[in-house]
Amino acid sequence: GQSVAIFTSGGDSCGMNGALRASVRMAIYLGSQPYMIREGYQGMVEGGEHFVKAKWSSVSSIIHLGGTIIGSARCAEFMQREGRKKAAFNLVQRDINRLVVIGGDGSLTGANIFRQEWSGLLDELLAEGKITTQQREKYVDLHVVGVVGSIDNDFCGTDLTIGANTALHRITEAIDSIASTAYSHKRIFILEVMGRRCGFLAMITGIISEADYVFCPEAPPPMDWHDRLCEKLQKEGEGGQRLHIIIVAEGASDLNGEPITVEIVKKVILDKLKRESRITVLGHVQRGGATSAYDRILACRMGAEAVVAVLEATGNTTPVVVVLTNNQIERIPLMGAVERTQAANEALKSGDWAKAIALRGVF
Ligand code: ADP
Repeated sequence: GQSVAIFTSGGDSCGMNGALRASVRMAIYLGSQPYMIREGYQGMVEGGEHFVKAKWSSVSSIIHLGGTIIGSARCAEFMQREGRKKAAFNLVQRDINRLVVIGGDGSLTGANIFRQEWSGLLDELLAEGKITTQQREKYVDLHVVGVVGSIDNDFCGTDLTIGANTALHRITEAIDSIASTAYSHKRIFILEVMGRRCGFLAMITGIISEADYVFCPEAPPPMDWHDRLCEKLQKEGEGGQRLHIIIVAEGASDLNGEPITVEIVKKVILDKLKRESRITVLGHVQRGGATSAYDRILACRMGAEAVVAVLEATGNTTPVVVVLTNNQIERIPLMGAVERTQAANEALKSGDWAKAIALRGVF
């Protein structure tokens, strides 16, 4: 059978292990030899021990674990052609020309560049005598399929990325704990949640925690937000509300692009309302822990489909990313989705929020 390599890359997220597990087992079921590459592109460039032939049992007892058991890394060498050439050599040496990449839009972009350069890289390796003519012929195409792991849900083209649902659970648990003390003491709590380029986590947690105010990258508040926020807190307090929660996404800003941080919000409340508030920055608490039931099944569905897709691929197949659309697992062209994601990020940076929202779709 054919060999297929599976690796995780970029920021880790819960569910990556479930996707790895499903990919490995589906590959074996279909008669292929799966390899796991440790430490993402770094392992692919370095070769050696980083390539692990996977057995059925290699992926036992991992579906619930956060992070990724095979490691993830950022790899500067892979950003350079020389690094990618080393990676190509390491793959061809092991008869691998099919890749399942589990990562964010950066990792998927890298995979696509690699795919486009692939035959040229093989030509050079052949000219240098590092691979044989037969290898060059047999592995002339690189087949790439992406699965998106990201807690921010910041990828265009899928209803949900792997890890976002678990992150929502972590944030909800944290807010519930905070809410009980806040309620007892009539406190104002300001929470920072992840989401540099996407307000998904902030928006959802804003609704499910009955937050008073949400600051997220796609919807900067009116410039008089200081007054509006304080008036609201004042009014709700007078109406008997004991608990106040304000959610701030990492990437929140005002209409001029000036960051809105938890410290700034705290200062505004102190200056205008003369009231103390408490800040909680959830940070990496949101990333890890036990994987939610939903992320486990989403990861299984995507991981299995990715291997089927990569084993079906021929020289003419457009590289795809496996996504969730209306609760169905689908394949869509990888580069279209990556380009849309990058365009949404650019739109956000340049202050074109409507465009960012239009590109990303409604949560
Ligand atoms: P994510 O996949 O979570 O978006 P990064 O953007 O950090 O994370 O990408 C992870 C790795 O993917 C990088 O460290 C690099 O090795 C590789 N990569 C990202 N972008 C490119 C690119 N344009 N060309 C080649 N490799 C890339």
